Amino acid sequence: MNSIKRNRFSRIYFFAVILILFMILYYTSTNYQGSEYKYNDFLEDLNGGKIAQLIISQNKEIPTGKLIIKRKDNERRIVYVPDVNKVIEDVNEANKTEGINIEPNISDVKRDSLFLTTIVPMLLLGVMVIVVLMIMNANAGGGGGKMANFGKSRAKMVVEVINMDYSKVAGLKEEKEELEEIVDFLKNPKKYIQLGARIPKGVLLEGPPGTGKTLLAKATAGEAGVPFFTISGSDFVEMFVGVGASRVRDLFGEAKKNSPCIIFIDEIDAVARRRGTGMGGGHDEREQTLNQMLVEMDGFGINEGIIVMAATNRVDILDPAILRPGRFDRKVMVGRPDVKGRKEILEVHAKNKPLGDDVDLQQIAQITAGFTGADLENLLNEASILAAKAGKAYLTQEEINKAMIKVGIGKEKRSKIISEKEKKITAYHESGHAILFHVLPDVGPVHTVSVIPTGAGAAGYTMPLPSKDEMFLTKGKMLQDIMVGLGGRIAEELIFDDITTGASQDIKQVTAAAKAMVTRYGFSQRLGLINYDDDSDDVFIGRDLAHSKGYGENTATAIDEEIRAIIDDCYQKAKAIIESHMEQLHASAKLLMEKEKIGQEEFEALFD
Ligand code: ADP
Ligand code: MG
Ligand code: ZN
Repeated sequence: MNSIKRNRFSRIYFFAVILILFMILYYTSTNYQGSEYKYNDFLEDLNGGKIAQLIISQNKEIPTGKLIIKRKDNERRIVYVPDVNKVIEDVNEANKTEGINIEPNISDVKRDSLFLTTIVPMLLLGVMVIVVLMIMNANAGGGGGKMANFGKSRAKMVVEVINMDYSKVAGLKEEKEELEEIVDFLKNPKKYIQLGARIPKGVLLEGPPGTGKTLLAKATAGEAGVPFFTISGSDFVEMFVGVGASRVRDLFGEAKKNSPCIIFIDEIDAVARRRGTGMGGGHDEREQTLNQMLVEMDGFGINEGIIVMAATNRVDILDPAILRPGRFDRKVMVGRPDVKGRKEILEVHAKNKPLGDDVDLQQIAQITAGFTGADLENLLNEASILAAKAGKAYLTQEEINKAMIKVGIGKEKRSKIISEKEKKITAYHESGHAILFHVLPDVGPVHTVSVIPTGAGAAGYTMPLPSKDEMFLTKGKMLQDIMVGLGGRIAEELIFDDITTGASQDIKQVTAAAKAMVTRYGFSQRLGLINYDDDSDDVFIGRDLAHSKGYGENTATAIDEEIRAIIDDCYQKAKAIIESHMEQLHASAKLLMEKEKIGQEEFEALFD
């Protein structure tokens, strides 16, 4: 609040100064002639008998007027006078005493002189100045504001006191839990400081667009009841060099005065892209901004009561420097919601919408796998528009169905609707991977199995919990990895008549692993301890083309055969394992169809 007010004041000062400057300029320039020939000069001329003619222009209502003087030497002079009556008196006096005879010729000019010639244009000028400044001001942040702001801009820095809390954020249970300690810290920093606890300075929210990152950040501020400073990374782009950095400085400065508080940097990837990757050094501005941000984050103490939150959907392109300890060392993944989450989100957004009896939110949740919170909100909104158009008093399933087509098939196919069949195939596919992860000794255990589309093109995923950091890959582990990789396709084969293209990524990985075993690690007896790998890690792609393979056709065939043999062998073993766990395969797939995402405990319980 503070900063906005102060900011507006400083801008008003700026206007005022400019206006005054213009006024001074105007007065000095228009009064210049007048200052040559003043009323006293006129009196002198009058008494000296040098005046040939005098015309007095005057408006009826006001005493001020303009004297148009024609001298006997044919020179014209103009004098503005505050009071015409005084002039007439003076002229009459002169007529009497000096014996000259001049008739003042009074022409009644409508609101003449001073008003029309001076004040009106001045006002116009002032208005113009204000308009220009206002336009510049409105553009601030987009780049146009540079002039008006002189780098002191806080135009896009918004401070809010948020009156919402976690109840408005549906689903995202684990995410909210992870942020709980931050809320508690902001509510009562002393408690933590006394115990010497270190609370993270930065929290990075990561996830696809529309999953509720901004919402979550706001709700965190609301939940803790602290001010929320927000600025978007894209605001920093395309600014004068130095402006971005100075904005960051301002932002942190203000925040420090208002701690405890939350600073939220939306779309942080716009500023915090990996440095030094720009061509021709064109990204100086962004780098400066990023550097300033890092400096500020390192600058404030651990428990100053400022939590910097940031959101991105491109964590892969972020500069690793921002993820270092003491910066954004806490990451919260905000994923696409599962069925339960989707139902809760639908409930939140259906609150202010009258629903017909035939609308079943649970059912909508079930058919919208892959939808984000924003997609669901959009879906209900489209449906209410359709209902309003049709003149209905409430939403029916009919509108929901229509909206589904519009939203699902509509823009960018971001949220594709997944059929039950696709979901079933994915559920078996992922369960196949998961069972092998669980059964094989050197891989796994299973952390999560999910059939929620990832947005990166995958229909689901199985995530193991890597138990320990390993220096070496053993031959046994590599073979098991290959078996796990084949598990998805095997499960599909065992259950369905047909197979899908969904395993292409698996096949690629499996092939790469088997190839490395043969050509790089010397795991194949037949080919021996020889490196057949042509160092394809080389920076110059062209070198691969220039180099000939270091071996002949026969060896190439042998390599291919060995790779094939490894994969075939793994395939047989993996198939045998899954066949002996059919019960678990069905159970796991069923559970996945129902819940879309299952954790370690639930999955392992299937094996008891
Ligand atoms: P992001 O910042 O991740 O791109 P937003 O927080 O801007 O997504 O979410 C966009 C909109 O989608 C929100 O304003 C809200 O209406 C809806 N939304 C997203 N996630 C949720 C959620 N978990 N609960 C309720 N509404 C949500
Ligand atoms: Mg957002
Ligand atoms: Zn797979």
